[in-house]
Amino acid sequence: MSAKILDGKSLAQDLKNTLRDEVTSLKQEMGAVPHLVNVMVGTNHSACAYAKAQEKAAQFIGIQYELETLPEDVTQEDFSACIKKLNDNESANGIMIHKPVPEHIDYSEVAKLVDTDKDLEGINVTNIGKMLVGETKIIPCTPASVMEHIKSTGVDLYGKEAVIVGHSVIVCKPLSLLLLEQFTTVTVCHIATSEAGRLEEHVRRADIVVVAVGKPSVVKGDWIKEGAIVIDVGINQINDKIVGDVEFDVARKKAAFITPVPGGVGPVTAVMLMRNGIEAFKAQRKKKG
Ligand code: NAD
Repeated sequence: MSAKILDGKSLAQDLKNTLRDEVTSLKQEMGAVPHLVNVMVGTNHSACAYAKAQEKAAQFIGIQYELETLPEDVTQEDFSACIKKLNDNESANGIMIHKPVPEHIDYSEVAKLVDTDKDLEGINVTNIGKMLVGETKIIPCTPASVMEHIKSTGVDLYGKEAVIVGHSVIVCKPLSLLLLEQFTTVTVCHIATSEAGRLEEHVRRADIVVVAVGKPSVVKGDWIKEGAIVIDVGINQINDKIVGDVEFDVARKKAAFITPVPGGVGPVTAVMLMRNGIEAFKAQRKKKG
């Protein structure tokens, strides 16, 4: 068997097309489009390139995108003041904070200040709580991307075994809730699972394996069950090459579907940010009545 490669770029394009249609309808209905603000510190080249890519995606979809650049030596106080100002600005529907921030800034303190209704990354504790009870459509971007990839396979998830490797707050814990919602049986593995020598046995019985660790080949290719869906979230640089966490060449011979790294989860994650922006805009309009 050779797995179907889940092409993130093409999935991202399909999703952008759908979002563009939605924004066109919103504009006709409401005479306005979502306005998103990306707060970035400094003018670091790779951060700028990512911001440019976001701007391009927003332009394609029809979203108003603004980059707020703070100086490299910005104080915690001024950073917080900037977020509070954006919270109070009725025309800004969504806020994201570009990472990494300089070491002298406490990111979690600034992130906590972002208005729940404008939290584009969906990582605010209130939004995570609302997600648990199904009261928000703002979903953390990476888990949302993973779910879009799984959905694109067309496989019925009901009753399937899903194994997540990694238990981070930003990716794996919210993902476990999303998979649970689809009635999969979810197992979450982590460093202690590996240390107990039990990672292999969990991965071997998985119909769906999602790996978000940040260690190349932490999941061996021959552990993959025949016909499984394999979603590799990991990003590792080895010399000039970017690789994931799964031993791809071997895994692709056993899986039915597999994401490549790069070009899998990443491109769709960026689009999920835009989708959250549209959901934030709609929720704010509904609240206003
Ligand atoms: P993290 O450092 O917060 O968490 C790593 C997790 O891996 C932990 O839960 C830990 O218990 C687990 N772990 C470590 N060693 C392990 C082992 N030997 N066996 C099993 N589990 C082990 O990381 P994160 O922020 O969740 O990111 C994980 C990876 O995903 C990184 O490579 C990161 O770059 C990538 N990532 C990609 C995207 C994307 O959009 N493509 C987004 C976020 C993160």
